Amino acid sequence: MAATIRCDVAIVGAGLAGGLLALAFRRRHPDLDVRLIDAAETIGGNHLWSFFGSDVATADRWLVEPLVCHGWRRYDVAFPHHARTIEQTYYSIESARLDAVVRAAMPADALMLGRKVLAASATAVVLADGDRVEATGVIDARGVADLGTLDLGWQKFVGREIETEAPHGREHPVVMDATVKQVDGYRFVYVLPFAADRVFVEDTYYSERSELNRRAIEQRLDRYAADHGWTGRTLREESGVLPVAMGGDFDAYWRSGGRSVAKAGMRAGLFHPTTGYSLPDAVRTAVMIVARRDFAGQALHDATYAHAKATWEERGFYRMLDTMLFRAAEPEERYRVLERFYRLAPRLVGRFYAGQSTMADKARILTGKPPVPFGRAVRVLLAAKR
Ligand SMILES: Cc1cc2nc3c(=O)[nH]c(=O)nc-3n(C[C@H](O)[C@H](O)[C@H](O)COP(=O)(O)OP(=O)(O)OC[C@H]3O[C@@H](n4cnc5c(N)ncnc54)[C@H](O)[C@@H]3O)c2cc1C
Repeated sequence: MAATIRCDVAIVGAGLAGGLLALAFRRRHPDLDVRLIDAAETIGGNHLWSFFGSDVATADRWLVEPLVCHGWRRYDVAFPHHARTIEQTYYSIESARLDAVVRAAMPADALMLGRKVLAASATAVVLADGDRVEATGVIDARGVADLGTLDLGWQKFVGREIETEAPHGREHPVVMDATVKQVDGYRFVYVLPFAADRVFVEDTYYSERSELNRRAIEQRLDRYAADHGWTGRTLREESGVLPVAMGGDFDAYWRSGGRSVAKAGMRAGLFHPTTGYSLPDAVRTAVMIVARRDFAGQALHDATYAHAKATWEERGFYRMLDTMLFRAAEPEERYRVLERFYRLAPRLVGRFYAGQSTMADKARILTGKPPVPFGRAVRVLLAAKR
């Protein structure tokens, strides 16, 4: 017989945003009955989430610290005419760690895994098995809503963790190796050394097309790994197609994820327009939500909408740069935009990835000889609605 479960807060979607929210609630409001609901049996899926140290404010680090699996003090970038080591911390979280930390923090009945959700409103969740959850407030973190409401390019990739037969010799990450042949837009390889004999290699493309030609990418990945002598057993693989936003109708996107329900993560449109990454925003949103005292559905909706809308509006600059990257630069010349960007000051680069560029940063990024044809850039920007 169908049951009705009553609780204080229901978080729908136990991915990155939902998992962080659940942990933040346990820490700040241990007396609340918070349920975390997901169709999958595990928390966080099959992911590796990386971030720069400057992406997370010092005051918010308590939330990510237990999750960090790997950390480095510096990282490299390499382009055809410029290579550099940047003294900035970089971290990675494995989804298996998120799963373990959330399970350890939550009471057993708070985890409702393997439970598909059919619908969520501000105060109720309908499960596919007929059960219903009634909550003071519901937060929907079920991943992307209707991306068709946005004007997008794509960051797509296939990544593989390899246990190398011999030590691979890398000590810190290569966040972009764009010395590789440029294919399907801007291409670079991303390398994370996890241990002396464990390396994660990801082949990435900034492309107009969202289709992921997995076989072709895997072949290029194999070649890159073999050229570096990194042969051995594959431990894990992941792939992704992330939105790179040039513009769009934020309110239509928000409504497409449910009109009245509070949202977090990609569902709330909270991702960096240029990278498609959502971890920095997911941390800020979780901290913002648990700083509240009122978890009533409507109030939560209004607070998360106001936060996501303000964030979207502040980020027009990044959407403009994305438009230049996709519409003004020839695909095989796109690397020049990033090559030029990576000549700038490390702190500016850090603020860019955190989505917190200052006015001076923006002016600095735009000054000098543009790496795209000027006339075309102006035409593209005049035609764009961001
Ligand atoms: C392979 C990959 C690597 C990435 N790497 C990074 C990175 O390094 N750094 C970074 O900042 N970002 C990264 N991203 C981008 C982005 O941050 C992630 O996609 C992130 O997981 C998004 O978080 P989220 O919580 O919004 O959605 P998700 O993590 O996708 O979580 C959504 C959850 O909702 C559940 N769900 C969906 N529908 C239902 C339903 N009907 N009923 C019940 N449950 C449902 C899903 O099972 C899932 O667990 C990566 C993305 C991918 C795909």
